[in-house]
Amino acid sequence: MPALDETLTQKLRLLAAKGLARHLPPSRRGQGVQVEQDGRAYISFSCNDYLGLSRHTSVLAAAHAALDELGAGAGASRLITGSHPRYAPLEMTLSRLKGTESALVFGSGYLANLGTIPALVGKGDLILADKLVHACMLDAARLSGATLVRFAHNNLEHARMQLEALRTEHHHCLLLTETVFSMDGDRAPLHALSQLCKSFDTWLMTDDAHGLGVLPREPSPADIQMGTLSKAVGSYGGYVCGSAALIDYLSHTARSLIYSTGLPPATVAAATCALELIEGMPATTSAPLARARAFTAMLGMEPAQSAIVPLVLRENGKALAAAKRLKEAGFLVAAIRPPTVPEHSARLRFAFCADHELKDIEAVAALIQQEEWLCASPA
Ligand SMILES: *Cc1c(COP(=O)(O)O)cnc(C)c1O
Repeated sequence: MPALDETLTQKLRLLAAKGLARHLPPSRRGQGVQVEQDGRAYISFSCNDYLGLSRHTSVLAAAHAALDELGAGAGASRLITGSHPRYAPLEMTLSRLKGTESALVFGSGYLANLGTIPALVGKGDLILADKLVHACMLDAARLSGATLVRFAHNNLEHARMQLEALRTEHHHCLLLTETVFSMDGDRAPLHALSQLCKSFDTWLMTDDAHGLGVLPREPSPADIQMGTLSKAVGSYGGYVCGSAALIDYLSHTARSLIYSTGLPPATVAAATCALELIEGMPATTSAPLARARAFTAMLGMEPAQSAIVPLVLRENGKALAAAKRLKEAGFLVAAIRPPTVPEHSARLRFAFCADHELKDIEAVAALIQQEEWLCASPA
């Protein structure tokens, strides 16, 4: 066996022994929250298409029209000839929804973080990140070369201590958090964080991947509002919203924007149409949170703060066994393991969508209550 393959095979064996083997299961998403795997239909609690907009007839029509008019691909970076006519309406819609002066669309949420954070801070600067921010914020923070420190999850006092200890030794400072934490479903205390940032001359950046389209819209105190078009918006791409100066500066300096091809016109048109629908249908956008709250009420848990509800089972094997048991009963629920979540906090992660029916939520809750080994241990 070649040396490379031998090394990798050994590493894969170690991962499997720790319950960390991963797969790319061929999946076909059907109507609503249905997913087909291995010829069997399941109700999925693992999709982030919270409002079902990836299949909405108006969204599909907008994508078809853009495909026919402008072709399958953008053909170049947005700074050359890739800023096709579908970008401007998308960026206008985003800044209107977010209440900011301006917006900039990137290739994905990952790329938005990877381009933005190193454009704003570097060597000699400080990044203060919530312990539970998404991997792509951390990757971007490391790439920037700034000093990276973490504060305990949503712990303002710990953040303040770090700022008191480190702020004056650094030039610029950026605090990173999420509006809705992707694996825990809880929310950041944005207004208190913003006050803290102001008193330490620190910029506040939020990742709203799981907020847009699900949480009630309200003005954000963050200086830099990043998010994705791939979850409730049902399409693909990422964005940053903020002041005109921020967006202008990013379009000069964000390397993931400059050195990567623009998004396909159909993708951009789909996102614009979906955002317009989100703007106009408050009843649908409140449904995922209502479903999540129905579920937490059935299980006697704290009321859900977002569409995401974790059931922390701690050990990898336990989370995998629970996911398997639910799958046998026809429900797809992701078992989330390290390094996506901290060690010994493996969990089932439920994502509730507008299309979930109460009877299915009841059936899953009943299964969880029946199975003693499924019951959540305190996190
Ligand atoms: C999904 C996600 C991203 C990445 O967005 P993509 O558009 O899928 O690349 C970033 N941050 C958080 C919190 C996410 O959940």
